[in-house]
Amino acid sequence: MIKNSQAGSVILTGRQTEKNDDCACPDRAFILTFDFADGQENDCACPDTLVATTSSTGANARFHQVRELYREQIWDGFWLVLSPYAPHGPCVLSEEAWKRLQDFALPGPLSQPVDHILVEQNLLVPFNARSQVRLGKPETLTAWLHVTNACNLDCPYCYVRKSSASMSLETGLRAVENLFVQAQENGFSTVKLKYAGGESTLQFRLIRSIHARARQLAQATGLQLQGVVLSNGTTLRPADADWLLENNVRLMVSLDGVGRQHDLMRPTKDGGSSFAALSQAVDKLLLPRGIHPFASITISRWNVDGVAEAVRWALERELPVSLNFYRQTQSAPGDLALEETAIINGMLAAYAVFEEVLPTRPFLNGLLDRVQMDAHLQTCGVGMNYLVITHEGKLAQCQMHQEQSTASIADKDWLPVLNHGWIHNLPVDDKDECQVCLYRYRCSGGCPLETYRASGRWNAKNPNCQIYKALLPAALRLEGLRLLKANGYLH
Ligand code: SF4
Ligand code: SF4
Repeated sequence: MIKNSQAGSVILTGRQTEKNDDCACPDRAFILTFDFADGQENDCACPDTLVATTSSTGANARFHQVRELYREQIWDGFWLVLSPYAPHGPCVLSEEAWKRLQDFALPGPLSQPVDHILVEQNLLVPFNARSQVRLGKPETLTAWLHVTNACNLDCPYCYVRKSSASMSLETGLRAVENLFVQAQENGFSTVKLKYAGGESTLQFRLIRSIHARARQLAQATGLQLQGVVLSNGTTLRPADADWLLENNVRLMVSLDGVGRQHDLMRPTKDGGSSFAALSQAVDKLLLPRGIHPFASITISRWNVDGVAEAVRWALERELPVSLNFYRQTQSAPGDLALEETAIINGMLAAYAVFEEVLPTRPFLNGLLDRVQMDAHLQTCGVGMNYLVITHEGKLAQCQMHQEQSTASIADKDWLPVLNHGWIHNLPVDDKDECQVCLYRYRCSGGCPLETYRASGRWNAKNPNCQIYKALLPAALRLEGLRLLKANGYLH
């Protein structure tokens, strides 16, 4: 039996199986799996559907349990399991399915319906064949459009060297026109625009004009169009919220705490509060219109104690949450840097709030920095399907390195330039210390820029590796509990 939930993204794959002994079977062998189609928004760009997991079977018809297996009994009669080669993350096995998986400690043929689901999850793999993750074809070309370099806030960790300059309409239109040409020429099916800055909503009229042109281009070319506005949420007007709704453009707001904690991280230019304006916008402008913006929380040493409270504030309003780690920049104060024990404790406190509220809508992809559950080789789309267009019409690989742009929107062919840029976004299989990590196709080694900053190497593990490894079991367990609740096994 396969049943889709009303949310459309959770799949309950339940298979009634006969036990091959004489006893009556009080349980069913079933597996709860999850499709992460409804992605989270954050500053960076996901690597898209870049990879497929494969297990080459050859002529061999015998299967065995995958050697590296993450397992935890998360509830009486339920096991959370994750194969490194799982296509979309962990799944939950009933006791019967778990026992069936154990039957394959020794190689054997597939003989029960549940066996095929275990194979789909790469929990069972062909005997004597090598499992692998390989590159797929990216579908979405994502562009960060830096519509303004100005901002009304003065966040200490901001990586933008601000000025009063903004993108001109001419540059914006030309950028988006050329972007569609690049997307067509390089076989992408979707263009995604991230309107960013500075504070992007200070240039909302420009965003509207650019997006209107993008819609025309999408219609003319047959490409899909997605849009998201990245904002601090303090300057939104009712007409802007109406426009977002009418144009199906998403909104991501930064939330770094509640009240004073948020203000410490995100003060106004004169050192005042920005939380009041943000909460007013969420409660009075957005939620009444049915807009649930993504809440992006940047975690540093300064606000780690307040992350749990911020998560509660967001979950009470049913906002999707994305927990991101502060990235060190040359201009940011050094005492913002992450301290392992404090970060782990603060994150676990935030996870406790998730467990208490336990939303049934998917949230795992937002729980741990750049960790994503769809199997992938690279942490972000840099060098493949992501680019940044500065307010001056220059092209850069990453929003944190806008000043290192070497090309411009006037160039004929953008992608080769970007593919050979300064940032080496290596596949995780090329990172020495990551090759044997159980989580390698979920974490993929973290932000390459941060890895390089910390180690001077592109092929090293991420400086947050110990934090990722400490928190991943807790994050996976939350997903297991969510799956049980979403499918009616937990109340
Ligand atoms: S950075 Fe650490 S957790 Fe991530 S893939 Fe590498 S070894 Fe694993
Ligand atoms: S290089 Fe790092 S900061 Fe830049 S897009 Fe990739 S993950 Fe994000």
